[in-house]
Amino acid sequence: MTISIDVRQRAAELRDTLNHYSYQYYVLDNPEVPDSEYDRLFRELQSLEQTHPELLTADSPTQRVGGQALDKFDEVQHAIPMLSLDNVFDQQELAAFDKRVRDWLNTDKEQTYAAEPKLDGLAISIRYENGVLVQAATRGDGSTGEDVTANVRTLNSVPLKLQGGPIPAVVEIRGEIFMPKAGFEKLNQSQLANNKKPFVNPRNAAAGSLRQLDSKITASRPLEIYCYGLGVIEGMSRPSSHSAAMNLIAEWGCRISPELKVLEGLEACQQYIDELAVRRDSLEYDIDGVVFKVDDTVLQERLGFVSRAPRWAIAYKFPAQEEMTTVEDIEIQV
Ligand code: NAD
Repeated sequence: MTISIDVRQRAAELRDTLNHYSYQYYVLDNPEVPDSEYDRLFRELQSLEQTHPELLTADSPTQRVGGQALDKFDEVQHAIPMLSLDNVFDQQELAAFDKRVRDWLNTDKEQTYAAEPKLDGLAISIRYENGVLVQAATRGDGSTGEDVTANVRTLNSVPLKLQGGPIPAVVEIRGEIFMPKAGFEKLNQSQLANNKKPFVNPRNAAAGSLRQLDSKITASRPLEIYCYGLGVIEGMSRPSSHSAAMNLIAEWGCRISPELKVLEGLEACQQYIDELAVRRDSLEYDIDGVVFKVDDTVLQERLGFVSRAPRWAIAYKFPAQEEMTTVEDIEIQV
């Protein structure tokens, strides 16, 4: 099929715009547009690329995870990439995801999914050797992140030494660092009182607080963590399911979401969404959706991943809560 110049131009324009927004968002912690606008343009590009696969380029944001690392921190290579998640925006798209999973696995059987809130913070991978915290790295572009070990060590909820249960020789515990709503409000009040610019939202405040060259600043910020998975694991076999991995992580003394549930089939997933949506505002932290993961590790391996996201997980995104009205310069380094 020949592609019109207009379509080609539109795809190039979308790539440039999205790459620019991504740089502002991930590298500078300074978003220029609301996430809903970013998501809209991203979907437009995705659908152009699906209709015209020839338009797909290596630098397309649909093929990449996040942004590059800042050059101020040491780089950390992720032996197991830290991927993004594909999104769905309504129940029909969730049902299509469930069908895709069953088609790939060639089964009609209802699938078992682990469900957790999708926290709005930033992803971290924390490496323990013989139970001792040796390194913490941001996701970065998925393959290369930033070494923020000194900063992560300041979070009281991150154990410096794992406890209980059998401890593997090496394990990377992955999770989301976030700023609870109350801490965010307080931080912004003190920013204003000190004639500093307030943060746009808790996600942005969490990212800005963690990516500080002076870890004393990070220590003064109300950051928390919920762990949601494992990266490298050596000296112990990988747990047979996501939920088993989460139990182990909790036994080691790390925080996991109290909302984690194992659900049988699509209908239970849909109910989970409805229930969490009702409680969304009363949670102590911002969430932007629900993450569903095929629970069984063997099935996850069979499903594998495509370019930037696993095939065995999906993020159901809630409708955007508020559009960004003003965008101001955000503190990234002090
Ligand atoms: P994502 O936020 O859609 O999903 C992947 C991330 O979810 C993971 O890396 C992890 O950090 C997080 N996560 C939270 N809870 C989790 C859980 N329980 N299990 C697993 N992962 C969990 O993907 P992304 O690539 O980080 O970001 C894309 C989103 O960022 C877009 O949808 C857009 O809304 C936003 N964005 C906005 C701009 C902008 O300019 N406003 C620019 C770029 C990206």
